[in-house]
Amino acid sequence: MYRIDIAIIGSGPAGVSAAITARARNMSAVLYGSQRLSDKLEKAHEILNYPGMPRIKGPDLAQALRRHMRDMDIEITQEQVTAVYAMGSYFGVETASGMTEARTVILATGVFSGKPLPGENEFLGRGVSTCATCDGNFYRGKTIAVLGFGSEAPEETKYLATLAEKVYYFPARGRELDPVPANVEQIGGAPLAITGELKAGAVETAGGKYQVDGVFVLRDAVPADRLVPGLVMDGAHAAVDLQMRTNLPGCFACGDLAGTPYQYVKSAGQGNVAALSAAAYLATL
Ligand SMILES: Cc1cc2nc3c(=O)[nH]c(=O)nc-3n(C[C@H](O)[C@H](O)[C@H](O)COP(=O)(O)OP(=O)(O)OC[C@H]3O[C@@H](n4cnc5c(N)ncnc54)[C@H](O)[C@@H]3O)c2cc1C
Repeated sequence: MYRIDIAIIGSGPAGVSAAITARARNMSAVLYGSQRLSDKLEKAHEILNYPGMPRIKGPDLAQALRRHMRDMDIEITQEQVTAVYAMGSYFGVETASGMTEARTVILATGVFSGKPLPGENEFLGRGVSTCATCDGNFYRGKTIAVLGFGSEAPEETKYLATLAEKVYYFPARGRELDPVPANVEQIGGAPLAITGELKAGAVETAGGKYQVDGVFVLRDAVPADRLVPGLVMDGAHAAVDLQMRTNLPGCFACGDLAGTPYQYVKSAGQGNVAALSAAAYLATL
């Protein structure tokens, strides 16, 4: 199977910067993320500290990054990476459309700030899914809950509603559906736990318990050690050295995932370092 040089996971400033450096160094790279790039970019009202771009609005910085990528023929693969497996001499990068083999991986996923719900990790793969495209078909004609934390949640919920008979949708603030499809019930109360016996069977809120056949938890980022089994963490962050190397040879992390301060310029800088470190690592293979 053909192996790409670098799989870059995440399309915020860190991932985009890594992709630009990878292209400048003639490495074959796939950048996973979305055209929107990053919710955190879209939401920033005015950025005062990005060098060379005084008082730029977040969406305008996103637009500038997209222009830069277009100029260098860098495309975004609009897919969520569901797992990264360290296979020794390469990495298996899993998405809904299959497995890609990469010689190195750069994790630029941003930081997972929330706490997993009780039951979320315990029932993962047993009634809890994080990927509508991967697992939606298993719930044709069934009743499901969708916990819509991530920016893609409204679109993914509309897609799931075309498959499931009934959808209980628990949107985070700003993720509400309007209009609401006929078979979707939008629930106001926050989900507190996913419960069940051998598999996930219900979502509980302060106001009630919703019995379901499966639960989709849609987040923009998941804890990195859940995405990459074997990755050593330092609290909420991937443990890295100054070259952005993680404990897994050939796997690098950058941006918010690599620690505080959470800043655009620091993320972009670390994306650059991670790509150069990946180049140095590839030269040793
Ligand atoms: C409202 C707001 C205002 C801010 N203002 C400023 C400011 O003025 N100055 C400043 O320096 N910083 C500011 N920040 C902080 C800044 O937004 C972050 O430090 C920066 O966005 C981090 O970049 P990143 O590339 O590490 O991660 P992110 O920007 O979080 O991007 C990560 C991307 O990876 C994607 N991703 C995650 N997992 C996967 C996966 N498995 N597969 C595919 N894609 C995945 C996510 O969907 C996301 O798009 C602000 C943040 C917020 C929320």
